[in-house]
Amino acid sequence: LTRIALARRPKGLPEPEDFSFETSALPEVSVGNVLVAVTHLSLDPYMRGRMDDVKSYAPSVEIGGTMTGQGVGRVIASKAEGFTEGDLVTGMTGWTSHAVLPATELRKLDDSLPPSTALGVLGMPGFTGWVGLKEFGRPKAGQTLVVGAATGPVGSMVGQLAKAAGMRTVAVAGGPEKCKLAVETYGFDAAIDHRAYADAGALRAALAEAAPDGVDIYWENVGGKLLEAVIPLMNVGGRIPVCGMIAWYTGLDGDGSDRLPALWRSVLVKRLSVNGMIVFDHWGRFPEFVSEVTPMVANKHIAYLEDVAKGLENAPKAFISMLQGGNTGKQIVAL
Ligand code: NDP
Repeated sequence: LTRIALARRPKGLPEPEDFSFETSALPEVSVGNVLVAVTHLSLDPYMRGRMDDVKSYAPSVEIGGTMTGQGVGRVIASKAEGFTEGDLVTGMTGWTSHAVLPATELRKLDDSLPPSTALGVLGMPGFTGWVGLKEFGRPKAGQTLVVGAATGPVGSMVGQLAKAAGMRTVAVAGGPEKCKLAVETYGFDAAIDHRAYADAGALRAALAEAAPDGVDIYWENVGGKLLEAVIPLMNVGGRIPVCGMIAWYTGLDGDGSDRLPALWRSVLVKRLSVNGMIVFDHWGRFPEFVSEVTPMVANKHIAYLEDVAKGLENAPKAFISMLQGGNTGKQIVAL
């Protein structure tokens, strides 16, 4: 068995010395478990986060521990019901040639499609795009979607499903080759090479041209320059599913004084719902509010305080005071 372990925690971009190769005899298979010879291993952006000793939605890899990851492979020994030698399976094998896993943590694959699809288009990244677009993107025909890392497994799924839903789709990808792929293979209406633009302003101008009616869904894979470029182009009622922020994963972008990466990371890790709201969009429900809350005020189930300034001439003073917290409760002027 050969496995790749985390040798030390990387600073910025990982280096080969951060990993170590370890060999050992094949492990015994105990009851309920299956020995898998790994044929395909998935490499995903989230793995960079697992190399840090930072609390996230998943635990970090210990020093000396096998790098985590999903693999596909063939069963070579089984002590679990339902699994026999030769079965094609997928599970969290880690970066290893062989893995013993509980049968309950393995999923059987059929041989009708290439096994590697279980790691991409039909696996975790493809599912991420599919479910996130339905739940949080809510595609609408005629609207515009922008996605970065557009030729990757998440971005390409998002782009194709949005296109099928009748949206205008704009890809952001690195380099002319990927831009060509975005249009020709994934059917994006336009593709922008983020590497060709030095700053967010220039990238924004290119995006504005590709999205002349503004942006209704910005699928966030990237953060950094692209996020800065796209925010002013968002339309009223736009949606931003925050899926990833790869530009910030190595901690190399910026000097640490910018709080946006920390905020954005909280939105992702804590699955925050961040919604802009303006009362005038909701006046239709005003009668419902009045009939529900009036009796609560009358019964004293809802308390309220008022701070009453006397005389119109005192309005400016009361206003200035209120802006500094001088009021206790709703500031009123009684004439
Ligand atoms: P990709 O295969 O698309 O690989 C990453 C790509 O990111 C690179 O190929 C590169 O594409 C792009 N990239 C890297 N650095 C930068 C940068 N500084 N600025 C702009 N683009 C950059 O990855 P996936 O499709 O697997 O994942 C895409 C995103 O989705 C990631 O952020 C990932 O962490 C996230 N994700 C989140 C999940 C969740 O549950 N929230 C689940 C799965 C993925 P290019 O050359 O085109 O710029």
